[in-house]
Amino acid sequence: MANFLVIEDEVNVSSFIKRGLEEEGHKVDVAFDGAMGLSIACHNEYDLIILDLILPQINGIEFCRRFRTTIGYAVPIIMLTALGSSDDIVKGLNTGADDYLVKPFKFKELLARINSLLRRKNLGNFTEKYKFADIVMDTETRTVTRSGQKLQLTSKEYRLLEFFLANPGRVLSRTTILESVWDKNVDLNTNIVEVYINYLRKKVETGFNSKLIHTVIGMGYVLKEE
Ligand code: CA
Repeated sequence: MANFLVIEDEVNVSSFIKRGLEEEGHKVDVAFDGAMGLSIACHNEYDLIILDLILPQINGIEFCRRFRTTIGYAVPIIMLTALGSSDDIVKGLNTGADDYLVKPFKFKELLARINSLLRRKNLGNFTEKYKFADIVMDTETRTVTRSGQKLQLTSKEYRLLEFFLANPGRVLSRTTILESVWDKNVDLNTNIVEVYINYLRKKVETGFNSKLIHTVIGMGYVLKEE
């Protein structure tokens, strides 16, 4: 279980998030404007904050700036934005948001981002299963099945698949994959990503009826259903 603060003035969005997270067994507080959010965030400890960009009183960018400079503790923040606000996204990420999600989004997309951030922050005992199409990854037992059939993955293949499952529907560049699954200092000229994508595709797709890992020419790879 984790503690969440949702700062969002659109009641239908905040209640949709609250309901979804509570169904996952989490505790959720909601604030409807940036000032209220900041005040609540100052007086409670949260594992993660979901913050809308456009808010009354104090907007998401200003919230991030004040939160990081005054409170400063390492709480991950996911910023919610509208389509076409890429300048704001950059600003948000620069002022202290850890990730963003463009509205409208599916709850499972939000959950994937949350899980990935919480895991990154090593909050421990946050066990989870990733599910995508007919793939299930149990991160506790480190087992992966597709259509109920167990897949034998090496540890790198597992990490690569886990990274895709944590970012479904998102185009991941070769560099992003390299830096996340391998490490920041890896030689960017290597073709190791292509090689491992091929290994992974063989194990995840051969003998099954649909492709899941798609190449986006010139951009990278995306996990999606056809
Ligand atoms: Ca709003």
